[in-house]
Amino acid sequence: MKDIANAIGVSAPALKELFRRDILRRAFIKHPFFSDIFEAYKLDRRFGGFEEGTLIAKTTDGVKVVRGFPKIKRALTLYPTIKKHFDGEVAIEEKMNGYNVRVVKFGEKLYAITRGGFICPYTTEKVRLAFDDSFFKDYPNLMLCCEAVGEESPYVPSSIYGDRLDFYVFDIRDMKTNTALPIKEKERICENYGFKMATIFDIVDCRIAHEVVRDVVEKIGKEGREGVVIKDVEMKEPPIKYTTSQANCSDLSYGFRYFGEYGKDFLFSRLIREGFQSWEFREIEDVMNERALRIGKAILFSMVESIRDVKDNGKIYEKMRLRFYDLEVFELFKEHVRRMGVPAKFSDPIQDDDGSYIVHYYKYMKSTTDIVKHILEGNLWS
Ligand code: ATP
Ligand code: MG
Repeated sequence: MKDIANAIGVSAPALKELFRRDILRRAFIKHPFFSDIFEAYKLDRRFGGFEEGTLIAKTTDGVKVVRGFPKIKRALTLYPTIKKHFDGEVAIEEKMNGYNVRVVKFGEKLYAITRGGFICPYTTEKVRLAFDDSFFKDYPNLMLCCEAVGEESPYVPSSIYGDRLDFYVFDIRDMKTNTALPIKEKERICENYGFKMATIFDIVDCRIAHEVVRDVVEKIGKEGREGVVIKDVEMKEPPIKYTTSQANCSDLSYGFRYFGEYGKDFLFSRLIREGFQSWEFREIEDVMNERALRIGKAILFSMVESIRDVKDNGKIYEKMRLRFYDLEVFELFKEHVRRMGVPAKFSDPIQDDDGSYIVHYYKYMKSTTDIVKHILEGNLWS
């Protein structure tokens, strides 16, 4: 424990206090699949200059600190926001809609760390198949920050990126300091090692970026894509995110489908985004009508679907399709989900043509189920 305390610069009693207050929590399940790790903890909150989601692991390579991925602030208007926040050139990158994964190498193997700082067995299995370790041999201090996208995702499934889970690098950072490589360096490395990368739509002067972003966002919105992240080409300034109306509506649809699970803040913030975008894009009435319909449909259709679910089936589940290459990893993942406190059930694995196993993962939406049930039983809404 002393080395863990040293790694984040606290005394042994202070470390104990962090555990007591649940700021520091266990981040992995001891298992031969994670054989390079003896102990691992994650920060559940920002602490002493370390971001939330920072991982501290005692590994066969010694104690490693992997910094949490920094929060990206959102622009609600493009002008003058972008111009105000940047100087010189900015890269306009695709913001892909999946989940954040930091890929690192400890000892002999690769590990996938999710946003909160957990080492995820499901993601780790896929990362070991998707990346060979030559990059990590050449740059042992760097981590690949990727978006894990695809339909077979246990956290953010989306079919527009393809069936299986895939990884797109968007940042390359020093795992200890969190310093990000400049955009050009990132591109060069991704090309050299054959990594897929989040699309860079354009690199432009920040004074005209608002126009370019608007064009990009309108175009990719129609394709159901999420949005853009605007980055200083040198990565010296914090990036900014901006999303398409379709992405806002898809969040609304999801949020209203499981309205008991998702807070009012989640839904309200999406509606506010729509208001500012509609205003800034100076929409004519027809276009505004289209947007209004999109928003209304997102809210209504998904809610009615949930009510119907309870009426017909008694319960609401989110259903996801997963794939395992090794059934031992399936066992580990079930334990992982249990520890994360997610009420879930799984189908039996079915073997696919390539020998891998398909499993259906059902996440029980208890809160939405309970509310709908209560109302359908004739009770009043207080
Ligand atoms: P935040 O990161 O601001 O805390 P959040 O967790 O709600 O917010 P999002 O709103 O999805 O996440 O926005 C940030 C996330 O976007 C990043 O953590 C990353 O996983 C994802 N992302 C997708 N594409 C990119 C990209 N090109 N550059 C940076 N991040 C990207
Ligand atoms: Mg996201």
